[in-house]
Amino acid sequence: MKKVEKILKNKEKTSKNHKFADILEKISVFFDKFLFPDDIKCIFCGKDIPSFYEKPYCENCEKHINFNTGNRCLICDMPIKNEAKICDFCQNMKRYFKKAYCPLIYQDIVRQSILSYKFDNKRYLAKGFAVIISNYIKDLKVDLITFVPMTRKREKERSFNQSERLAKELGKLLNIKVVKTLEKIKDTDDQKSLTFKERSENLKDAFRLVNRDLIKDKNVLLVDDILTTCATINTCAEYLSKYSTVYVTAIARNCLD
Ligand SMILES: [Zn+2]
Ligand SMILES: [Zn+2]
Repeated sequence: MKKVEKILKNKEKTSKNHKFADILEKISVFFDKFLFPDDIKCIFCGKDIPSFYEKPYCENCEKHINFNTGNRCLICDMPIKNEAKICDFCQNMKRYFKKAYCPLIYQDIVRQSILSYKFDNKRYLAKGFAVIISNYIKDLKVDLITFVPMTRKREKERSFNQSERLAKELGKLLNIKVVKTLEKIKDTDDQKSLTFKERSENLKDAFRLVNRDLIKDKNVLLVDDILTTCATINTCAEYLSKYSTVYVTAIARNCLD
């Protein structure tokens, strides 16, 4: 087969796969809604609550949530113990995003619920997390929402991409279009034990920009689940920042002490 024909055929195949993935996503959303009527219950303990879209949690759980409301970095939203405006990390390295927004601290019940969202397949929790984020970024104006991608292999293993799911719920709440702008083309090793420098090395060439025309000269909100060193999000933002202004959001901030 000629090379061009082969490419066209592959393209067709990819588009069919995407359509199929879209249908699967719609079916799963339908069943989640049916099995878990998700906008009446506390996202942490499951108790019925009166006003999900203001506070998707009960009064009791509210006491145990550590909200990210203290003095924090103007760029990466990390809590800062002294009066500084910018954290040491952001002072010492280039950030490709303008500002990050993380409404919660990654601790206690927040940590537990994010872990079960990701690893116990409790994907219905995305809506509650999105409500908390949307209340936190009220004054931010963006044109598009996008998300940190996973490799196909990893997504298959987990059955969904937690950042994509979050982005879609956020898009529905804010009435903003969600687009895929990045593909993860290389599996990166488990990054937990690596330093920031090692993480950045590891992430090089792991992503590819797609749909660049969509983001040109736009304000884009890039969604992730948790921010720790910002290595991943900064790498993704670097691709996007060549064409757009990038803001970042995640459910929770993991503090680095
Ligand atoms: Zn509760
Ligand atoms: Zn910072």
